[in-house]
Amino acid sequence: MNNYNFDILIVGGGHAGCEAAFAASEFDLSVGLVSMPGVPLASAPCNPAVGGVGKGQVVRELDALGGLMPRLTDFSGIQFRILNESKGPAVRSTRVQIDKDKYAEKAYEILSKRDGLTLVGATVLKITKSANGYTVNSKEGKVITSKVLILTAGTFLNGKLHTGSLQVEGGRVDCEKSVGLSELISAKGKIKRFKTGTPPRLLGKTIDFSKMEAQPSDARAICFHFGNKPDFRQQKQLDCYLTRTNSQTLSSIRDNKERSPIFNGQIKGVGPRYCPSIEDKAFRYPDKDSHHVFVEPEGLDIDTFYPNGISTSLPVEVQEEFLRTIPGLEGAEIAIPGYAVEYDVVNTVDLKISLEHKEIEGLFTAGQLNGTSGYEEAAGQGFIAGINAVYLLKGLGTFKLNRNHSYIGVMIEDLVTSERDEPYRLFTARSESRLYNREDNTYYRLAPYRKSLNLNNEIDNFLDNYLVQREILVDLVKNSGFRATSTWKEYFQEKGYGKIQENISLEELIKRSHLDPEKTLFEELTRMGIAFIPQVVSDVANSVKYEGYLERAQNQQEKLSKLTEKKINWKILCENSNISYECRQRILKVQPEDFSQLSRINGIRPATLAYVASNSL
Ligand SMILES: Cc1cc2nc3c(=O)[nH]c(=O)nc-3n(C[C@H](O)[C@H](O)[C@H](O)COP(=O)(O)OP(=O)(O)OC[C@H]3O[C@@H](n4cnc5c(N)ncnc54)[C@H](O)[C@@H]3O)c2cc1C
Repeated sequence: MNNYNFDILIVGGGHAGCEAAFAASEFDLSVGLVSMPGVPLASAPCNPAVGGVGKGQVVRELDALGGLMPRLTDFSGIQFRILNESKGPAVRSTRVQIDKDKYAEKAYEILSKRDGLTLVGATVLKITKSANGYTVNSKEGKVITSKVLILTAGTFLNGKLHTGSLQVEGGRVDCEKSVGLSELISAKGKIKRFKTGTPPRLLGKTIDFSKMEAQPSDARAICFHFGNKPDFRQQKQLDCYLTRTNSQTLSSIRDNKERSPIFNGQIKGVGPRYCPSIEDKAFRYPDKDSHHVFVEPEGLDIDTFYPNGISTSLPVEVQEEFLRTIPGLEGAEIAIPGYAVEYDVVNTVDLKISLEHKEIEGLFTAGQLNGTSGYEEAAGQGFIAGINAVYLLKGLGTFKLNRNHSYIGVMIEDLVTSERDEPYRLFTARSESRLYNREDNTYYRLAPYRKSLNLNNEIDNFLDNYLVQREILVDLVKNSGFRATSTWKEYFQEKGYGKIQENISLEELIKRSHLDPEKTLFEELTRMGIAFIPQVVSDVANSVKYEGYLERAQNQQEKLSKLTEKKINWKILCENSNISYECRQRILKVQPEDFSQLSRINGIRPATLAYVASNSL
């Protein structure tokens, strides 16, 4: 078939595109997903892992919203871990090593059976905007029309790969670059150039794992998808391994500075400060000789390993030289050399909070193309773009997640309000409300947003049940307890709960500073013989334990929210002579819809904020 017509067309089947397609096809609209033949859907060109600090929260948010990524991750997970476990629930996150082939295969299996969604294998060469929507022409001669379009081309737009002085055109290794699409955006907005990189892939049979520290999967880590039992593992679990660079490794890199495309001027694009290459680390931290290298399997039947921490674009012979110095990698053979990729990105201040382009009606962009880095960031944006494409067609306004309730909300607001000069990735410090935006209470935080979609699927039933159980458990925790009798005194001593001098409630017990609230609540419920959804127990335990802090933060936020949610007419602001010319220019560029967005625009003066806050504009 060569001609297609859809309500919504998504170009690009990476993490953003697949999530957008999954979300949009929940509604009664026709949705198409066109992606390059030969590049598997939702493939992982970099680290074969999903989640991590700040990112695990995004995956859980996607689950609460009815997304795809949590299902794929649970299905293909070969190692589950809890990061920052000892640092408290605000920064605790789940990270899952995935079998990258199984992940991509599952994505295809789910999406190809999805009602209302058509998958088209084609390389898009041209996108034309007309009064009625979009026409897409592919290399294979296919013509696809749609009312709205979501572009999620990842690192492919005018992509260029670098390994030492070798420069190859491509979106990632062994993939052609995408041409002719940036023009659609550059006609109405700015295009920037970013870069990212990846380490060499190593043949497993040439690695000496006995010299490394094994890191096993953690049975206590909870699955991402609500439909799976928390500790259910669908695949055999594998270890990851930890080794370290040393002074020899870094000397070898420092001696070859001139051969590094990052330092000799060959690469012009800006790379991620928070995900530096090994050569970045060697020069940024001249006094440090040892950096962690996590050696991670790429799958159950794949004999290549991903050495996380040594992303590089140095020449292959330098990569080989420095690998020899790392314990366990002395004899490691390179299956695919490390490389950097430069690509075109959208200037995200040209986007609305819905991720629709301000100047190109009906065009949404999401993922790496929006200057972010990471599968989770891409999927989070894909979901938002998918829903907002539906909302645009149905005239429902904008689907927006408040940053105080969601990491996806934090990311989208950050992207559209301040110009990015490097790839953006999420971490917990980006959220002002990280004690509230925890992993454990995600279903509670996101339930109102999912409900607002007015759908009636499995997740909606789960959330209804979750909210009822949560209410019952909060009541139980506050209204049941222990009397100061000799039996309970003995019990307290035996459990290490501390002294019991007068009657105390379960709430007071789990608030005791030396106790782990989740463990204590789980144990007490087991003793009582009452079962709740495990996520409800963790949510209630932490919500009760940190109630005081959360209440104070909420009071502050409520005061602030009155201000931050204040709607703004940016057109009026741009004509207001009480606001400096420079600030008006910045406001014109971003076109903020509320005070929260206004306050995050780079360079907006406090005087402007004070003026807008105290006047009705
Ligand atoms: C070399 C490399 C290093 C990376 N390093 C990191 C890292 O260190 N940390 C990190 O967090 N992330 C890293 N990533 C990024 C990670 O891969 C992305 O964040 C993630 O895949 C982005 O998802 P996406 O959906 O936006 O794009 P992608 O996953 O890239 O998917 C884009 C999709 O669009 C399709 N496509 C493109 N053009 C066309 C066209 N013209 N016609 C049809 N289909 C098209 C492609 O086939 C592909 O399926 C790296 C990526 C690469 C390539």
